[in-house]
This record gives sequence, structure tokens and C-alpha cells, in this order.
Amino acid sequence: MSVLVFTDSLNKEITKSSFEAVVYGAKVASDIGTSCIAVSYGDVTESSLSALGKYGALKVLHDTSIASGDIQNLHLLVKQACEKESSKVVVFGLDFTGKSVAPMAAAALKAGYISGAIDYPSSYQPITVKKNVFSGKAFANVQINTPVGVVAVLPNSVKITTTDASASIELFKATLPGSKIKTLETKLKGGEGVTLTEAEIVVSAGRGMKGPENWGDVEELAILLGAATACSRPVADIGWRPHHEHVGQTGVAIRPNLYIAIGISGAIQHLAGVNGSKIIVVINKDPEAPFFKAADYGIVGDAFDVLPKLVEAVRKLKAA
Ligand SMILES: Cc1cc2nc3c(=O)[nH]c(=O)nc-3n(C[C@H](O)[C@H](O)[C@H](O)COP(=O)(O)OP(=O)(O)OC[C@H]3O[C@@H](n4cnc5c(N)ncnc54)[C@H](O)[C@@H]3O)c2cc1C
Repeated sequence: MSVLVFTDSLNKEITKSSFEAVVYGAKVASDIGTSCIAVSYGDVTESSLSALGKYGALKVLHDTSIASGDIQNLHLLVKQACEKESSKVVVFGLDFTGKSVAPMAAAALKAGYISGAIDYPSSYQPITVKKNVFSGKAFANVQINTPVGVVAVLPNSVKITTTDASASIELFKATLPGSKIKTLETKLKGGEGVTLTEAEIVVSAGRGMKGPENWGDVEELAILLGAATACSRPVADIGWRPHHEHVGQTGVAIRPNLYIAIGISGAIQHLAGVNGSKIIVVINKDPEAPFFKAADYGIVGDAFDVLPKLVEAVRKLKAA
């Protein structure tokens, strides 16, 4: 018996949401008295694979033959790794790859599937997990009633803890049909910056910024804080910012530890994608802006006065 965790990589390094999934899987394994095994694929550095041990994986099954984006073969890899290790629970991070592979793997394993877990299981007989529903407006406790269960964990739902351990690496060759696709290149849309869904801090701005030429301080603040940048939907629609930065009901859903919203009104459709953030800071010149109701901290003020002061304060703090 074991708990299996699917891990993904970018630029040959395991991603942060995979580390979170391993932390989650290791806790589940410890709770049910078994080991946590990771499964990975493609071109990943040996050091990154063995570092999975720090997060709680005993070993990593690694298949070098599958290319990034080959979802059809990836779900077969997970199925076969699950059968090899007699896994009772399979854990995914709910990142872009996890969103595609997890439901297919669950179907192949005839397993119950919970997508978007936000906490560790509250019970194991049967496995019961809390997840967000209605765009984060409510929680549901969901049970899995199949012998094998698949759980996909929302990014930033668990605290990452590490030890000095390292995982052993076992080469694993899944039996796969020929690949139906070939990924030629994977390029982050936002260049080398922090990935929005994995960012612990997000600096986001809306129509209150008046125009794309005013994003300098937003970007500067993000760089100083090691944050990703995001925006409201109209800002992306009018072309002030790229579409991949649009957060909300129809954009990317995020759960950073800190979300700073500048010149964004806080419409329900925007909140739907960001209300899982641990701390929300709102900067808006209108004291009646709905976003203040969801904020942990608010500054009523003109962004063009507040933002330069904030950038300066963070710069000083970092220099000190
Ligand atoms: C079906 C549907 C889906 C949608 N999905 C999304 C979605 O996924 N994400 C999303 O964001 N929206 C979405 N929307 C749009 C949403 O309803 C709002 O219209 C949008 O979020 C408003 O964007 P905004 O806050 O940037 O702009 P505005 O509503 O124009 O608000 C601008 C804010 O900036 C403030 N402001 C102005 N000047 C300054 C200044 N100098 N300093 C400080 N503050 C200032 C104003 O007080 C105001 O609160 C959706 C709408 C629909 C109908």
C-alpha cells in the first residue's frame, strides 16, 4: 500500500505545486501508516528529483520517455505507477497539467475524484476532503467511496515543510502506446517571472490605473516583493495587460498568501478568482468600493499617490 503523488516540472525543475502535493501526500501517507511515492516524467534534473525527499517522498518513479503536455500518456503513467505501488490514494497539484491528467487518471483507475481540495482529509474511512464550491463562496465536504481515491489539491492550500531527507530515484518505463502528439517547445507566457498560479504574492491592478503606461510601479512593486502581476478582466480585454494575467471567474483562479489589488472595484466575478487569498490588501480611492468588504487591509487613496510611496517603503525595507 502507498500514497502516490504526481509531480510536474518546468525548465527541468519540479514545480512548487508539485512540492505542495508531495507534502500533502506525505501527510496522508503518515496518517494511514504507509509511504509516499512520487511519480515524475520527462527531462528533470537528478537533484530536483531527489529533493522530493525533503517534502516527504520516499522514492520517485521516473519515466524519461514522456514529453511535457502529453496528457494521454501521462494518465497511463499514473495508472501504471498506482498499480505497481498498490496506491490507495493518488494526489495531484491542481496546476495546468494536474487539471488535465487527474480526471483522466481517475477515470482509468475507476477511482472517485475530488478536485480542488483545500485541506487535509478530515477522515479516512472513507476518505473525506474539504473543497471549495460556488467559486469559493462555500465549502463542501466530499467523501470518496471507491477503493482508490484521487485528490487534486488547490495551490497554496498547504504549508510547505521540509526535512533533510532525499528520495531514491527509480527509473520506471510505463507501457504506452505511441504518442499522439509532440510538444515542440514550452514557453512561459510571462517570460521568466513568477508563475501566477504558483505565486505566494500577487500584485494586481484594474481600470483605476487609467492606462497601460501607468503599470511601471505595479511591476516594480511585484519585482521587489518577488510577486506575480495580475489584472482585472476589462484591463486584459482592452489590451492594457496580457490575457494570461486576468484573474477571476472567467480568468485564472489564484490563492496566494498575499493579494494586493490596486484600482480594482471588487466585482463578484473578480472576487470569485481571488477570494481564496490568505490576506487581501485593497488600494482604492472610493471608500465605498465593494472590494473593501473582502479586504483584510485597505488603503483609501489615489493609487498614483499611494503606489510610489509603497514602492519606496518596500525598497527601503529591502535595503535595510
Ligand atoms: C460573465 C462575466 C464574467 C466576468 N469575469 C470577470 C473576471 O473573471 N475577472 C474580472 O476582473 N472581471 C470579470 N468580469 C467583469 C466584472 O464584472 C467587472 O466589470 C470588472 O472586474 C471591473 O474591473 P475593474 O475593477 O478593473 O474596473 P472598474 O469597475 O472600472 O473599477 C475601477 C476601480 O478603480 C478605482 N479607481 C479609479 N481611479 C483610481 C485611482 N486613481 N486610485 C485608486 N483607485 C481608483 C475605482 O474607484 C473603481 O473601484 C466579468 C463580468 C461578467 C458579466
